[in-house]
Amino acid sequence: MRQILLTLLLLSAASAQAGVKLYVFDCGNLKFDDVSAFGLTNEETSVRELFVPCYLIEHENGRLLWDAGLPTAIAGQGPVVMESGAIMELGRSLPEQLTELDLTAADIEQVAFSHMHFDHVGAANLFSHSTLLIQKTEFEAAFGDELISVFDPTLYSELADSKHKLLEGDHDVFGDGSVTIVSAPGHTVGHQVLLLRLANFGPLLLSGDLYHFEASRRLRRTPDFNFDKTQTLQAMDKVEALVEKTGATFWIEHSKALADTLKLAPAYYD
Ligand SMILES: [Zn+2]
Repeated sequence: MRQILLTLLLLSAASAQAGVKLYVFDCGNLKFDDVSAFGLTNEETSVRELFVPCYLIEHENGRLLWDAGLPTAIAGQGPVVMESGAIMELGRSLPEQLTELDLTAADIEQVAFSHMHFDHVGAANLFSHSTLLIQKTEFEAAFGDELISVFDPTLYSELADSKHKLLEGDHDVFGDGSVTIVSAPGHTVGHQVLLLRLANFGPLLLSGDLYHFEASRRLRRTPDFNFDKTQTLQAMDKVEALVEKTGATFWIEHSKALADTLKLAPAYYD
């Protein structure tokens, strides 16, 4: 009997993961002459370029967009100066890249962003028909009356009245453990990361902006512009323990070195 139960459990776990696909899109890059605002000295890392990804997760019960890259308005414009010593660039907009999968924004039922900074919500306004999965704290900060300098509400204003699920902690997106939003506050008030369980690739953690650089993770550094440093360090502890427990592969979303090794859409991980 125990053996049968165990087999059933294993079978259900396997079927829960089967069919989940992860697509990675190039949603731009950022270049900085000086990285000291990230809590690192310019000697502690030689990295000056950050990759900006978008991700699409396909599950048999629906699609989830995770992070929406740089503002679509700058697509194809070449390097755009943000401020002295800081440049952003986006080659092709996310909707343009989705067409390669025969998809439009309308085909995506749920969206979630690791947080609401400009380099993660650049295409957000295209998803006002989708259900937004967001921490209650982040929602209140992003859509509240008080202006928060690091947020650009024009990039996501269309989502103010969209369907949303206000989260207060972790959230199992499809109810089968294959895609889990994990609350990891500190970079912003409601920052979150995503744990995927892919049948072939194995568990994978998309870490949002928990770290921007490999050196940030190695040296446990937090950017000066984070919402709360202590909370960030606690979130690092929580996520690192989860990675240890699950054996998940850890992706620093902004890592250019990592991005150079990734398969981009229309290829996928499953
Ligand atoms: Zn970022």
